[in-house]
Amino acid sequence: MKWCMTGLNDLEVSVQQEIEEVSVDKPHVLLLGAGASKAALPNGDKNGKPVPILRDIARDLHLHRDFSQDLVKLSQTDFEAAYSKLFSRGDSQELEQINQKIAGYFSSLELPDEVNLYDIINLSLREKDIIATFNWDPFLLNSQTRLAKRGVTKLPRPYFLHGNVAVGVCSKDMVGLAGNRCRRCGNVFEASRLLYPVENKNYQDGDFIQSQWTAIRSYLSRCFMLTIFGYSAPKTDVEAMKLLQEGWGNVKDRPMEQTEVINRPGADHEAIYETWAKLIHTHHYDIHESFYDSFIANHPRRTGEAYRNQYLESKFISDNPIPRGITKLEQLIAWFRPLLDSERRG
Ligand SMILES: [Zn+2]
Repeated sequence: MKWCMTGLNDLEVSVQQEIEEVSVDKPHVLLLGAGASKAALPNGDKNGKPVPILRDIARDLHLHRDFSQDLVKLSQTDFEAAYSKLFSRGDSQELEQINQKIAGYFSSLELPDEVNLYDIINLSLREKDIIATFNWDPFLLNSQTRLAKRGVTKLPRPYFLHGNVAVGVCSKDMVGLAGNRCRRCGNVFEASRLLYPVENKNYQDGDFIQSQWTAIRSYLSRCFMLTIFGYSAPKTDVEAMKLLQEGWGNVKDRPMEQTEVINRPGADHEAIYETWAKLIHTHHYDIHESFYDSFIANHPRRTGEAYRNQYLESKFISDNPIPRGITKLEQLIAWFRPLLDSERRG
């Protein structure tokens, strides 16, 4: 069906026009932290298993028992500090035990069968866009796998800034799903490393983690928009913030870019602004309390086009919000079908 322009002002962009327009190549960068998985699975995974955050991990997974007597208390209040102390003592047996327990627990987490926020997030961005996650859980990749099985393969590229239980590495060739075999050399993809001591978050390890950080810095340097969802930039991870800022560059040189932060309801907006000030040009930011209020959720698969129309060409754009309440994956994909079809034609 052809869109009829009659009566539409040149300065207005309708939903149908937004769907039809596929013209932006610049990437949208979405950064995910623990808050995203909490929002996606507020009642735990498919089997009701909670998705713990790093701070509470010793308590939630009973890891304190694996620490030396003098570190038990610290492990329950500041897991990363206790882990670092253990690391500096060089107690490899204790460290290995903790590593294995964490990897084992996160590997066992599963997405519920019904539509999950991770499916919506994956469908809302295009192949040119990236999702960089700090989370160890397998939900982002599990969702991409089940969408691909249903024929949706034009998905945003995933990057794993802290490693991930679903991602394996072949030291010679490439990355793949942990446990699968590398197509080039036949080696089994070995699980990526998850834990690093806090004073020495070695993002320059010359290996998998470094490749992920190199990629995100490159994408940050040329993206038109950065969305940060549920990542609070903990003080223990100054290295991460330093690298993100390095990628973004001098905020004065990014006068057209837009930054949006999705945080839990009731969060302190002033504090959020302060946290991300070095990645925000003057007033070019939004803080949302739900993913559904974000630019991504209101301009799915067209964030770049909507951004250009609104911010660069000062047009009045219409929202194309993702409907809420769809529980069947096929139904959700069907809603995205006009967007996917338009991309294929384009
Ligand atoms: Zn290989």
